[in-house]
Amino acid sequence: MDRGWLHESACKGLDPAIFYPSTDDDAHEAKAICAVCPVQEACLEHAIGHREHNGVWGGATERERQRIIRRRRRLRALSASETAGAVGN
Ligand code: SF4
Repeated sequence: MDRGWLHESACKGLDPAIFYPSTDDDAHEAKAICAVCPVQEACLEHAIGHREHNGVWGGATERERQRIIRRRRRLRALSASETAGAVGN
């Protein structure tokens, strides 16, 4: 996977500890940096695609990434069932 986007990251050179808060409630600083990062989307997709289990990536904590993954799974399942229903009609 191309990780060229890392060179444009807003967190480049910052203390990595900011992005590994001990609780989600302590993730505000990391999220504020991610919010203005030009590669936020690429970072989030990288974390989801690689099942990163720790830290804030793309402005999302692990718990929030899990929510995104579950939502995408539900949407895929819904889309597949609608497609199957359309074929069956
Ligand atoms: S979205 Fe956040 S963690 Fe990802 S590269 Fe940008 S600043 Fe770093």
